[in-house]
Amino acid sequence: MNIETLHKLFLKSKGVATDTRAIKSEHLFFALKGDNFNGNLFAEKALSKGASYAIIDEDILPNNDRCILVENVLDTLQQLSSYHRTFLNIPILAITGSNGKTTSKELIYAVLKKKFETIATIGNLNNHIGVPLTLLSMNSKTEFGIVEMGANHPKEIEKLCEIAKPNYGYITNFGKAHLEGFGSIEGVILAKSELYNYLKLNRGKIFLNIDDPIQQKQSSYNDVFTFGESTEADIIIKYDNSNTLAEVEYQNSIIKSQLTGTYNAINIAASVSIGLYFKISLESIQKAVYNYIPKNNRSQILKCGSNSLLMDAYNANPTSMIAALESFKDNPAKNKIVILGDMFELGTSSEEEHQIIVNYIETLELSKAFIVGKNFYRTKSKNEHIKKFENFSDLQIALESNKIQNSYILIKGSRGMALERVVDILKSTT
Ligand code: ATP
Ligand code: MG
Repeated sequence: MNIETLHKLFLKSKGVATDTRAIKSEHLFFALKGDNFNGNLFAEKALSKGASYAIIDEDILPNNDRCILVENVLDTLQQLSSYHRTFLNIPILAITGSNGKTTSKELIYAVLKKKFETIATIGNLNNHIGVPLTLLSMNSKTEFGIVEMGANHPKEIEKLCEIAKPNYGYITNFGKAHLEGFGSIEGVILAKSELYNYLKLNRGKIFLNIDDPIQQKQSSYNDVFTFGESTEADIIIKYDNSNTLAEVEYQNSIIKSQLTGTYNAINIAASVSIGLYFKISLESIQKAVYNYIPKNNRSQILKCGSNSLLMDAYNANPTSMIAALESFKDNPAKNKIVILGDMFELGTSSEEEHQIIVNYIETLELSKAFIVGKNFYRTKSKNEHIKKFENFSDLQIALESNKIQNSYILIKGSRGMALERVVDILKSTT
């Protein structure tokens, strides 16, 4: 079946699904394959749950006229979304970068929603499947699209751009994330810049944090809209790092948030400048930013008995770890403790990057540091406040036997470390 015909079926359907648990009646089911599953085996179930058609790439239900056999389901999903994009006569803003994509996306979404019927990536669906699904969730009523794009290898952003065809782009930063796939920070810069390259070739506009030296180099590019503290910025933003909750100042007005971590001020600044660029009133922007509450353990403050927890357990890499520690350092609280978990996907830089973090926490005034995971366990430290644990169960034993009270605790580690488990332990011991 060609893409035009499939698109017609898509327009008649009530949307697409890739998981039979989420199927609703009249959905198109795309039988994707993963390392541990084969969607083709669920096609029958999808149809019995009401899917109008199942798009499959293994002919396991011959003679079923509600099965559409294609060469590769993933390619077909991507082609369909890319084709659908050509019918969406709307601006699409792509967001990539090493850290802060989802937070920036959520803030920008909150702001743009004040004026436009906006569809943005749900949660963290930012890859070769998530981007097509985001595009296919847009329809003729959509006035603005925001697409988060994640990558851990070169050429992935380029491909996502070809699918989503953004007119605007914002790169949050270039940091030490996914070094395994990118090789080095230079590799990260090249890969993320694929978004800039796409926009350059397609006359799009880029939003730029002019205070970031790596981004500043891009300002020779013609069509940029800049923000930052520099007086050369189109939107001059002032940062004040003295508060626990991130905020920025624009033309003597304060834009407050409920986000901890000074690095979030940049995410806020991006949303303010993009909002102003699209002529949204400062008052609406202030409301949108202030009402945004982070989800999924991203920069949240939780009260736990007499302790305050700064939950940043959603993920970690060297750049976001240092950013979180720097911000934590500036906090005036007494009895500060950090509980840090391993950072994954660092390839050959892993040992060095974990040691850099340990060296950095040695310079901080902390009452204790608990570091957990195989990589942190291998680091060297003479500081007796730093307690190392090879795995989570050893950390758990230590936390259960050391009652922690009246402390301000930063919790951060890679997703796979699932450090949110610490909360339950602290709840049961305080
Ligand atoms: P993912 O790669 O998982 O999609 P992401 O880029 O979407 O991550 P967020 O989910 O917004 O990033 O934030 C993840 C963590 O990154 C935060 O909890 C925080 O520690 C850190 N972070 C957020 N914004 C910044 C920033 N501007 N600079 C440095 N670190 C940041
Ligand atoms: Mg994300």
